[in-house]
Amino acid sequence: MRLILLGPPGAGKGTQATSIATEFNIPHISTGDIFRYNIKEGTELGKKAKSFMDQGLLVPDEVVVEIVEDRIKQEDCEKGFLLDGFPRTVPQAVALDEVMNKMGVSLDKVINIQVDKNILVERAVGRRICKGCSATYHIQFNPSATEGICDKCGGNLYQRDDDNEATVTTRIDVYLNETLPLIEYYENKDKLTVIDGQQHIDKVFEDIVNVLRSEK
Ligand code: ADP
Ligand code: ADP
Ligand code: ZN
Repeated sequence: MRLILLGPPGAGKGTQATSIATEFNIPHISTGDIFRYNIKEGTELGKKAKSFMDQGLLVPDEVVVEIVEDRIKQEDCEKGFLLDGFPRTVPQAVALDEVMNKMGVSLDKVINIQVDKNILVERAVGRRICKGCSATYHIQFNPSATEGICDKCGGNLYQRDDDNEATVTTRIDVYLNETLPLIEYYENKDKLTVIDGQQHIDKVFEDIVNVLRSEK
């Protein structure tokens, strides 16, 4: 199964992606995670991406497209993959179509996780990430059992540099300007399903699984 998760920052893409990837046994490809890993490792790519990310702006299309193209050509993606946070612009979506066409594969579904703008800031600002395994928590809505410690691996939790109110607000505006047109793009291709992202995490997951099971 080849899937895309769409939705504004804080919608719950990463949270759902982890569960979907396990359920359907496909790799979870998060461009944000790839950039954060490269920043941590101090690579050239990390240096290039950091200034954009810190400002809440998008990393240039050509940089992101190349990374995703390389990633989905790897062997573990042969049976499918789940893209989280990519594509984010129409040129990225067009490039993805071209790459997948050349590979002779096609998209199965685009899931759009819908959440009201006023909830997104609270979600992103309260988000905490595990340094060890990148698991995502929320100080209020999805807390770890012990404050600051990951339930899954015992790693320390941290707050992303870009999860402050000012940067999140910019990221939401960027989403509205650059990413929202993708909803129509995939609607026109008859690939889009909208999911209510304001329900409990488990219910959102249940709705997504129901959609994907009825696809097969
Ligand atoms: P995204 O990848 O779309 O930016 P995340 O999955 O990282 O979003 O979720 C953003 C924050 O909101 C995290 O702190 C997460 O724990 C929390 N969260 C995710 N889904 C829900 C939900 N359905 N209800 C309440 N909080 C949620
Ligand atoms: P969120 O889901 O909360 O917006 P992500 O982890 O997906 O966060 O992305 C964090 C940042 O990484 C973005 O604000 C952007 O700077 C960069 N980024 C991630 N994916 C892309 C993409 N497809 N195109 C351009 N920039 C990206
Ligand atoms: Zn962890």
